[in-house]
Amino acid sequence: MHNARQQVLDPFGKPIPRLYAVGELGSMFGHIYETMGNIAECITSGQIAGTSAVRERPWG
Ligand SMILES: Cc1cc2nc3c(=O)[nH]c(=O)nc-3n(C[C@H](O)[C@H](O)[C@H](O)COP(=O)(O)OP(=O)(O)OC[C@H]3O[C@@H](n4cnc5c(N)ncnc54)[C@H](O)[C@@H]3O)c2cc1C
Repeated sequence: MHNARQQVLDPFGKPIPRLYAVGELGSMFGHIYETMGNIAECITSGQIAGTSAVRERPWG
């Protein structure tokens, strides 16, 4: 599972630092097949994850 920033969540719902899910991995509609929806989700989730990643603080 992941949150709206594409951060992968641990079993307790807490984001795992610096780990993001994009594309089919953790798809919001993985339980069905939504025609053309997969590629759209790949593009949007990649952009969201990339934007979230560049906003991370650099390793101290
Ligand atoms: C026949 C077919 C038709 C489809 N038609 C459509 C359609 O019309 N519209 C639509 O929206 N979706 C369609 N899809 C679904 C869509 O193609 C997928 O949802 C999408 O490609 C998933 O992208 P992804 O980047 O998440 O995963 P993938 O495209 O599977 O990319 C994962 C990548 O990771 C690589 N990889 C795997 N393991 C490792 C490893 N250990 N180390 C390094 N690299 C690794 C793989 O080689 C692969 O390149 C179709 C799928 C299929 C199979």
